[in-house]
Amino acid sequence: MNRVVLVGGGHSHIEVVRRFGAHPVPNTGITLVDTARFATYTGMLPGLIAGHYDFHDCRIDLASLAHRANARFVQASACAIDTTQRQLALSDGTSLDYDLISLDVGSVPSTAGVAGAADYAIAVKPFSGFVQQWDKLVEGARSGQLRNVVVVGGGAAGVELVLAMQYRLTPLATTRFALMSDAHALLPDHNPGTRAALEHLLSQRGIEVHLNSRIERVEPSAVVTSNATRIATDATIWATGAGAPTWLTNTGLTLDARGFVAVDEHLQSTSHGGVFAAGDCATIQGHAYPKSGVYAVRQGPPLAENLRNALSGKPLAKYRPQRLALALISGGNKYAVASYGRYKLEGAWVWRWKNYIDRNFVARYNLKT
Ligand SMILES: Cc1cc2nc3c(=O)[nH]c(=O)nc-3n(C[C@H](O)[C@H](O)[C@H](O)COP(=O)(O)OP(=O)(O)OC[C@H]3O[C@@H](n4cnc5c(N)ncnc54)[C@H](O)[C@@H]3O)c2cc1C
Repeated sequence: MNRVVLVGGGHSHIEVVRRFGAHPVPNTGITLVDTARFATYTGMLPGLIAGHYDFHDCRIDLASLAHRANARFVQASACAIDTTQRQLALSDGTSLDYDLISLDVGSVPSTAGVAGAADYAIAVKPFSGFVQQWDKLVEGARSGQLRNVVVVGGGAAGVELVLAMQYRLTPLATTRFALMSDAHALLPDHNPGTRAALEHLLSQRGIEVHLNSRIERVEPSAVVTSNATRIATDATIWATGAGAPTWLTNTGLTLDARGFVAVDEHLQSTSHGGVFAAGDCATIQGHAYPKSGVYAVRQGPPLAENLRNALSGKPLAKYRPQRLALALISGGNKYAVASYGRYKLEGAWVWRWKNYIDRNFVARYNLKT
């Protein structure tokens, strides 16, 4: 019996599980390991914060997905890999033996080097923890205790979140919102039209934007920037760019300069055969592309194919990330901006389009058939 261990129920692995369920490989046992039973689909997270969805709408039940695919689901946190013994260590002290292993454990907003951030900021990942904290913030707003909210991170995640929060909390309380970025412009990965559209929404909704403002320190009731500006806060939300999960250093795998697993165009570790990685936690050497869900989703099918090829001794197939990806960035109020290369479109219809795509994505992995 070949033992395939899939670590993390991220966007690539859910497709691997689905495909192995639809077309099983003889003599192969699949185990999916995730810290949580439910994976939150990030595309819908801003809609959840804004109040357009509830948690059930946005979550994928990993245990049921595995069950339908005749795979085993283990709810545990991976903390190390022994590639010589072919063992995955779990933080509860147990371990899993494998013949092939694949990692899709995502990324974490990096708080490294920012004093107080780990103690006083609320990280947007893991999403389940963030959603629980958000419910408390909504209560805080209702009781008049949440007057100042700071969101750190000027990428799509930070912009979407601050707009969603403002939309949800404004009817409940008078809350001041500030969006902080260390870059000279918001959404640096997007075209000028998209930037202008979202800057317009932020200004229309009274959200302060602080550019060139690297956060140096987070305190319980203030953030302090490197140019010594102090901004009052009752809740600091950390939504900065993707950082590598620190436990990857306990795997012996070759990592890139930012600590992500270095993989080749087969999505296989550049240092260890039989070890694959996809999604945010992996970087395909020789290609420049952002850490985003779109790329993690696209890597699901080639990863499934290569795990299958590796099991049957066939040559591995090549995968090259696409050069451009469509981003649908929501404005909180059922309005969204579509960004693709140099092009921008916006409107309520873009939000409805996004809603359709997102709901279908989640349904695909929760369906009983
Ligand atoms: C607010 C927000 C909105 C976003 N919106 C979009 C969007 O609209 N479009 C887009 O393309 N991208 C979006 N992104 C980016 C997107 O979330 C990520 O790029 C995407 O989730 C990466 O997918 P993944 O499969 O690599 O990992 P994830 O989806 O993060 O999944 C990783 C899984 O691994 C599990 N895990 C983590 N550590 C361990 C461990 N040690 N042991 C076991 N399991 C573990 C986690 O529980 C999780 O289920 C958004 C990000 C944020 C923060």
